[in-house]
Amino acid sequence: MLRVAKFGGTSLANGAQIKKVIGIIKKDPCRRAIVVSAPGKRHPRDQKITDLLLRISDHNHTRNDLHEIGYVDMITVRFEEIVKELGLEIDIKQIFGDILEKVSKLGPLLAREYLASRGEYLNAIIIAKALGFEFIDADEFIHLDEKGRYDQKRTANAAQKIGLVEKVEKGIVVPGFYGIDAQENIRTFPRGGSDITGAIVSAVLHADMYENWTDKPGVLMTDPSIVPDARTISQMNYSELRELTYMGANVFQDEAVFPVRELDIPINVRDTNNPGHPGTLIVAKSNDEPNNLCPITGIAGRKNFTVISMSRALMNQEIGFVRRVCSIMEEEGVSFEHMPTSIDSLSIIISGDQFAGKETLPSRIDQEMRPDGLVTQHGISLICVVGRAMVHIPGIAGRVFGALGQAKINVKIINQGSSETNIIIGVSDSDFENATRVIYNEFVV
Ligand code: ASP
Repeated sequence: MLRVAKFGGTSLANGAQIKKVIGIIKKDPCRRAIVVSAPGKRHPRDQKITDLLLRISDHNHTRNDLHEIGYVDMITVRFEEIVKELGLEIDIKQIFGDILEKVSKLGPLLAREYLASRGEYLNAIIIAKALGFEFIDADEFIHLDEKGRYDQKRTANAAQKIGLVEKVEKGIVVPGFYGIDAQENIRTFPRGGSDITGAIVSAVLHADMYENWTDKPGVLMTDPSIVPDARTISQMNYSELRELTYMGANVFQDEAVFPVRELDIPINVRDTNNPGHPGTLIVAKSNDEPNNLCPITGIAGRKNFTVISMSRALMNQEIGFVRRVCSIMEEEGVSFEHMPTSIDSLSIIISGDQFAGKETLPSRIDQEMRPDGLVTQHGISLICVVGRAMVHIPGIAGRVFGALGQAKINVKIINQGSSETNIIIGVSDSDFENATRVIYNEFVV
């Protein structure tokens, strides 16, 4: 049995947190492949090591002497404190000196990615030593293509070449957030990308479980800034996770799910500060059926959509109408999120960032399609109610709309995915938080 355990930045923010992490790892001999982030914030006004490293990179364009900048000292002091608290002997100044030496030889873009990755690198060296595990640098086996995406084949080959599976027997620590491209340059994943490394390591090793340790008790049913005591989701499937994440839930990037999803490796999101809590289990097929008391899995949403709605008498008989609208969108390079239709009307829902710079799109559609009417609405929020139970429990949509109606929230859009695992509702941005709370309170008692 092998568990890959990835620990996030707040779980590793200082020596005390790292000691907790070591306790968690030592408690289960199956936790033999560890992936670490760089130290994150110790308190809300603190700075993440990765942000400090990026600040050095901002200055790297204009100054030669990197030591002149206070950030170098801030970073070395933080790592030295960690090393001291763990009772280790590691010459952080020496290692950081070597890093800066290399930075001075790289062009600005490569220097930025290389620097950004060094928080994970240093943290992995420290944690490997504290655990007595082997430090395996991500650049030894995680290969990325020219677009910075995970190259599965080269990674698997490289892992085999360095004997990763054998090394795991005695325990390994791998720095998260980066890999190496075909030109052997260090390339980082998008921010928060240590999750991706955790998934890659899990996939390469065919782990039995990918544990993702964070500072929250698993994945919450909705955004805690809207519902402060939001419940933890105990189990969900990959599709529910994808829908929630896509609609704004701050869980995993898609990239961090695909490597494990392909191999059906379950993900367990856990809380470092409450290791007794089972957290959230994400699996291919959930066997933990939501019950009638709470038949939904979660609620996520995003603000700032634009909706272009058009109507024309007998639109339903006109062959090619939708295709021509889609061609205009394609020519304009705009991707849309949803396209609800009725007999004589059609709406296109576009996210704010897609619509930016394309403000002439509605008038182009109006001129070329000549609908009887065309209305453009901005400032629309989409809220997605997700739950695999919707397929067999009737009345869920009724409860959602009943609750919104009682709260006098005007629903502007209704859409249900063909998989019947979600209901999407459009409301004004000003109703977004309230509508989310109302739906949550309807189902969670
Ligand atoms: N340290 C990186 C960040 O702050 C990556 C990570 O923590 O996953 O985004």
